Amino acid sequence: NRQVILKRYVTGCPMVEDMEVVTGTLRLAVPPGSPAVLVKNLYLSCDPYMRTRMTRHAVPSFVPDYVPGKVQPDGTPVVVVVDNCLSVCIYTCYTVDNCQVLDNCGVSKVVLSGHPDFKPGDLLWGVTGWEEYTLIPNPVFCHMINHREFPLSYYTGVLGVPGLTAYAGLFEVAKAKKGECVFVSAAAGAVGQIVGQLAKLTGCYVVGSAGSDQKVNLLKTKFGFNDAFNYKKELDLNAALKRCFPHGIDVYFENVGGAMLDAVLHNMRHRGRVAVCGQVSQYNLEWPDGVDLFRLVGNHIRMEGFLVSDYLGEYHRFEEEMARYLNEGKVVCVEDVAEGIEAAPAALVGLFAGRNVGKQVVAVARE
Ligand code: NDP
Repeated sequence: NRQVILKRYVTGCPMVEDMEVVTGTLRLAVPPGSPAVLVKNLYLSCDPYMRTRMTRHAVPSFVPDYVPGKVQPDGTPVVVVVDNCLSVCIYTCYTVDNCQVLDNCGVSKVVLSGHPDFKPGDLLWGVTGWEEYTLIPNPVFCHMINHREFPLSYYTGVLGVPGLTAYAGLFEVAKAKKGECVFVSAAAGAVGQIVGQLAKLTGCYVVGSAGSDQKVNLLKTKFGFNDAFNYKKELDLNAALKRCFPHGIDVYFENVGGAMLDAVLHNMRHRGRVAVCGQVSQYNLEWPDGVDLFRLVGNHIRMEGFLVSDYLGEYHRFEEEMARYLNEGKVVCVEDVAEGIEAAPAALVGLFAGRNVGKQVVAVARE
């Protein structure tokens, strides 16, 4: 069972060498009487927040830190009690001798099951290990795959957490409405590409920023954004935003933080809303960049952070709506698929250099 572990806590930009692909022993069994399921992992999702779990936090974070170490070849995974996690923990840690196989969302096939809702052969998406096979002690965050008409990998992206994040952030948090001006950063990524398309379907004027001309071209041609710019080529972000939004921005879907957030706050309209989804530019920094938050005051801007886990109850409504859009061709998605579990560390690291074009996924096995 090839597994990806963290070798050491990370400072600065994560490197491939911070992780290691090791081989552990696989036990083809579920503990008698337990609700565990043993799954074969097919697709693993790469997400920027995983970097935040690679640092040892003194104060609790919303997800537990990964635990570095070495896998014992004959160890059985055990669930650890998470004491450094603030939110209701939907994550399960699989540790072997106090070492953790990285975990995150993925698409898996059930091999053995002690759980009444799942049987061998079922296809699931939810939290699993970064390994070929995972024993999930209690599949509380595993969902059946309902739409087999789409590629399975879509359940790591447009029909999974990034899609629900876009949907909840745009409609529940930012309350975007027809005719409004919407700006989204990291717009060609997993979340951003869906935010832009949903905003367009709602009748908004939509502009995105991304870090290469290739991505900017995708935004304008494939995803139907009204406009887009390459933030790495703009000398003055404030001027770029004024060019795209001469009358200001009603909704900002915030994915990056730092200088971009500062420039956006200078261009928000009265009673604008900022849905703070993530701040990827900050994840590798020891101290955050300064941002002029006083801008919120004078213009009565509502800026609200959210976690997709607040909206899991919306999932089935979202899934059906998104499946309809996909079937009708109203939403498209672009994926960046890395082949094989050995490719997983580099795929994750690539998120911080913007190497992924679209949703970064790792194909571990075909069905
Ligand atoms: P993406 O697919 O967008 O991948 C990350 C992208 O971020 C890169 O491709 C790169 O694109 C951009 N990026 C990397 N470093 C920087 C930087 N220093 N400055 C600006 N841009 C940078 O990732 P996701 O769509 O999965 O995630 C987008 C955001 O949403 C993240 O902040 C993530 O943490 C957050 N998120 C939040 C959730 C929640 O529950 N609140 C749930 C899921 C995601 P480029 O080439 O354009 O620079």
